[in-house]
Amino acid sequence: MVGRVAVVGGGIVGIACALELLDDGHAVTVLEPGTPGEGASWASCGSIAVSEVVPLSKPGTFARIPGWMLDPLGPLTLRPSSLLPILPWFARFAANARPARVEAIARELSVLGLAALDDTERLLARHGLSALLGTRPVIELYDRPGELAHERRFHDLRRSLGFVIDEISGAEAREMEPAIAGDFACAAVFRDWRSVVDPKRLVAEMHRVFRARGGIILPVGATGFVRDGGAVTGVRTTAGEVLVADTVVLAAGAASRDLARSLGAALPIEGVIGYQTSLPEPGVAVHHALVYAKGGFGITPYETGLAVAGSIEFARMDAAPNWNRADVIVAKARRVLPGLRTEGAERRMGRRPLTPDTKPVIGRLPGAPQVICATGHGQLGVTLAATTARHVRDLVAGRRPNVDLSPFAPDRFGRAA
Ligand SMILES: Cc1cc2nc3c(=O)[nH]c(=O)nc-3n(C[C@H](O)[C@H](O)[C@H](O)COP(=O)(O)OP(=O)(O)OC[C@H]3O[C@@H](n4cnc5c(N)ncnc54)[C@H](O)[C@@H]3O)c2cc1C
Repeated sequence: MVGRVAVVGGGIVGIACALELLDDGHAVTVLEPGTPGEGASWASCGSIAVSEVVPLSKPGTFARIPGWMLDPLGPLTLRPSSLLPILPWFARFAANARPARVEAIARELSVLGLAALDDTERLLARHGLSALLGTRPVIELYDRPGELAHERRFHDLRRSLGFVIDEISGAEAREMEPAIAGDFACAAVFRDWRSVVDPKRLVAEMHRVFRARGGIILPVGATGFVRDGGAVTGVRTTAGEVLVADTVVLAAGAASRDLARSLGAALPIEGVIGYQTSLPEPGVAVHHALVYAKGGFGITPYETGLAVAGSIEFARMDAAPNWNRADVIVAKARRVLPGLRTEGAERRMGRRPLTPDTKPVIGRLPGAPQVICATGHGQLGVTLAATTARHVRDLVAGRRPNVDLSPFAPDRFGRAA
């Protein structure tokens, strides 16, 4: 049935949902108080990282955390003021590091990941935006063979699920990317990954197309919901108004947790900070996105220059950026690209909306079935936006999704206290 849909949040996930819903004939309004794409999306590495299905809480991660934490500029840190509030989330995160859970989560996420590139290509093609998706795979670099050997069990798991990962020598990696340092021992090539040419422009273009096709974007935020006899019938906005809707899509990234809580639902989403630095004149030519996992960052060639992005920082939602962390990963990027120049650098911060099981939240909110969640995509929002949007479109239409979405259901976390 065609109806009025309010999409809360116009990041990559929200605007992808909005475009899909417009295609189904709904009257769609997006509430977005900020500049399109300046949530988590603009800080990303921009990779369609389809096989990144192994959860972040994998075996081996926890042994390395104390060392990282002692180094304030290591790849992962936690600000002291957020230690106590985050403990329950961390306990759940740690529980998902058991090998059986890791395998189960990887299998569940692969259902989305295997469709992600096709869905992204189709969504972009339908709206004349195909030129915003690159055509090359992504290369992960290792200093020593032992590092690849450690990762191999996860690569094997990914391969067993249908993804394509090749192992090559450091010399072969250098043939593919002559600008990289000459002493990497080996590399993995993620054959089925791609990268977008600029995530901020991608989101902005999707907003433009959505508007041009009759969608409405209101420059306001959602402050809560209106209920009538238990059913959600609208969204309250920062303008003091109510937007009446038959269905609400909750796609507010890291802000989704508090909005869901106002409806009695518990979505344990942490806004995990990452940083990106755009280098307009990097002085090196790079054609593939590169990942240097040991340094906790990726390097992506965008149309505006090179972007160096990474870092995992747990901090309260009102915490100011620690730009030192962005600067450190740029300095570390010279390990990968010795000739890198940083003049004119521009820094961005984003909060990945991360759940303790690294899986997104897609489905109807418990106790408020008029609200459909499209959030919690963590480090995979760019990758899974189009696939999520296709499933949200089916859910709104009452069509049976073509895959089992129960692993992503919001009720897996229970009710809010
Ligand atoms: C360093 C880094 C590297 C990354 N690399 C990758 C990568 O290579 N590949 C990948 O797939 N993903 C990557 N990610 C993750 C990806 O960026 C996120 O998963 C994705 O951007 C989340 O999109 P979103 O639309 O859910 O959230 P956001 O982009 O944060 O958008 C949410 C929107 O909701 C709006 N909003 C907030 N509150 C309200 C409210 N009350 N009412 C209405 N609107 C509201 C915000 O203004 C915002 O625009 C990376 C992230 C970081 C930080």
